[in-house]
Amino acid sequence: MEAKRSSPLLVAAALLLHLSQLYMPGKNCGIEIRFGAHPGEEARPGRERSVRKLRPMKCTMKLAACIAGLILSGDAQPKPAGAPASVPARAPIDLALDASEAEQALLILDKEHEGRRIEPGDWTRLFATRPYQWLKAREASFNRAFTDDQFKAFLASPDALANRAAWHRTLAGMKGADMKTIGQRVLAWLPAGASLHARVFPEIKPLKNSFVWTKEGEGPAIFLAIQEQSPDSFENIVAHELHHIGLESLAARQHAIEAPLPERVQRAMTWMGAFGEGEAMLAAAGSDDRHPHWEDDAATRGRWDSDMMHFNADLASVQQLLLDIVDGKVSDAAEIRKRAAPFWGVQGAWYTVGYEMAVLVDKRFGRKAFDDCLLDPRLLLVRYNEAAREANAQGAAFATWSPELLDKLMVVSAAGAGRSAESGRS
Ligand SMILES: [Zn+2]
Repeated sequence: MEAKRSSPLLVAAALLLHLSQLYMPGKNCGIEIRFGAHPGEEARPGRERSVRKLRPMKCTMKLAACIAGLILSGDAQPKPAGAPASVPARAPIDLALDASEAEQALLILDKEHEGRRIEPGDWTRLFATRPYQWLKAREASFNRAFTDDQFKAFLASPDALANRAAWHRTLAGMKGADMKTIGQRVLAWLPAGASLHARVFPEIKPLKNSFVWTKEGEGPAIFLAIQEQSPDSFENIVAHELHHIGLESLAARQHAIEAPLPERVQRAMTWMGAFGEGEAMLAAAGSDDRHPHWEDDAATRGRWDSDMMHFNADLASVQQLLLDIVDGKVSDAAEIRKRAAPFWGVQGAWYTVGYEMAVLVDKRFGRKAFDDCLLDPRLLLVRYNEAAREANAQGAAFATWSPELLDKLMVVSAAGAGRSAESGRS
């Protein structure tokens, strides 16, 4: 799905093959993500998205100037007369900022603040914006109450009015952000061939969570909750989300790796993809040596550091779930989702264990190995074990994945007898 992007409908159709109904309440950035699904399988957790080798983006100005419906460039290019039937490949980075909902909501808030009358048309224009429509559809998909009247009440609340000035500042910052540069940074943490194609919706909304969501028949969108935040925090959130987008763009290659494997192994790999949260944390930080919450407040950093203290226990918990999946003890998607839910939490094991593994692998084996792990999540466990063993020999005390789990994961085919792809595991 990377190459031929002649039709957004085709892209959407391809995406639909991989998108699911699974909802993961991730937080970090306060992120909630719908994960792509394998055919015949309900959900695909953790696979998010990516980018790499940059070609010039069509819109070189700040995305702010491209707002309001800046269309995904592939859609926007009129075909010259006599042009060949083939359509040029879409640029690796193609992000379309649409701030129409936030702008219209602020217009209404400004009127409230100034005591001016809010016309029915003001609301009509707000409710007709794409970001609002998509947010409404997204909440409905989770069976959450979200009505126009509720939104009106939210905008009329003292809290919304009190935040009006801050939201103006935040929106201005988002519109001025150099999304292309952020995207380029993220591409450096993704295998070649990844792409960052998404709509970006700054949203004024009651909940302060940011997330990626794909509307049926459409490409993915990043919903960025507008709240008081630093530019660094904003960039961190965007980079994290973009990594999900870029990794998802590689879904076809991931599926090609998984397809020959037994169903239970595929299912386990699907869930191991949730370590993409930790990989996105590393990519957003941009360095193995930078704290993943470097731009956050001390309380957030403290929470993360505290959670890292029980890394070994968390690894064991995830391992038990993966063993139960690969052993066939649990196969029902709802049951697995229930057991995996604590690994999201605020920033649970999918984040912390995934992050620590990603850092060790990247540091010890380099970016190519890290990229390979993004495509095949089993390699993340294998490579991590190798790095952890070396560190443990120097006095560290990292838990490692059991040979039993790795043997069961590293089979070569549906009929394979469990041949291991790793040597010397502990
Ligand atoms: Zn995430």
